[in-house]
Order: sequence, then structure tokens, then C-alpha cells
Amino acid sequence: MLCEMCGAAVPRTKLVMVEGAAVQVCQKCERFASSPAVRTKEGAVLLPEVAGRLDNREKRRKEKDIYEASGELELAEDYSERIRRARQRLGMSHEDLGKLISEKKSVIVKVESGEMTPPDKLVERLEKALNIKLKEPVQAAGEVRNAGNSQGMTLGDFIKVKKK
Ligand SMILES: [Zn+2]
Repeated sequence: MLCEMCGAAVPRTKLVMVEGAAVQVCQKCERFASSPAVRTKEGAVLLPEVAGRLDNREKRRKEKDIYEASGELELAEDYSERIRRARQRLGMSHEDLGKLISEKKSVIVKVESGEMTPPDKLVERLEKALNIKLKEPVQAAGEVRNAGNSQGMTLGDFIKVKKK
């Protein structure tokens, strides 16, 4: 291999950063390096601190994905519809259902019309009383984002290796 600084032919060169550029150098020239360089799988060369930052970002993203896949539930969009249908199926009036779960009739009416988002406690009571599910898994927002791994990185994060 050839040292890109002094041109000496050496058995091994090391990739380092010299004044912002990634170069392969021999052992002697290594001392001119401002920092070691890190090569990514994609073949780009990063400053160690940038590589560290990207690692953290990757880690955060994975944690987020795990969180999203952990069975986190949110109120279904058609919750009011589900409540109304279940109540009618059971032949109950607004008042009957209200009595059953110790809520005012007006609360039932508001929830069924979508005017009121039921708090978690009320959702649980409704689910039990009507034997329905009002919650759904949170939709993973990460799928499209995950497709292009490097697209979220800024240009400045990368210092391209010059092609030989
Ligand atoms: Zn050299």
C-alpha cells in the first residue's frame, strides 16, 4: 500500500483525518493526523465524534422502535361508534349504560357522539361493561423512515472517501 502523504510503499497504512480529509498514511505520517477516522459500513469515513453521534442516534431510534412495538395502546378512532353499537346490541339505553358504569347519561351521550374523549378509567369501565375493545396498538410511524437508513443524516455528517 502507498502512504498518501509521503508516497512510501508500506505493508500497512492507517486511515486517519488530516486537516479534514481522510487519508491512508504510513506509520511515520500518522503523527500528522488530527484524529483517527472511522469507516462506516457504507464506506463513508467519519470523524470519531461524528460516528459516536450517529451511534447514539441509531440507539435512540431502536429504543423508540422497541417502545412502539411494546404493545402500547391508544383509543381507537371509532371508539364512539364501537360504544354505541355495543350498547344497542345489548339493548341498553344511554341511561342503562350510565347506571351500569356509574356515569351520568349525559357523559354516555357525549362519548358516543365523539364530543368527549373518555379518560382511561372510563374507557376501562366501558370495555368491561360492554365486553368490547376500545383501544388499539399504536401504529408504528417508523416504517418509512427505516427504509432509508442514511437519509436522515446531514451532508456534513459525512466525509466521503475519495475513489481510487
Ligand atoms: Zn508516510
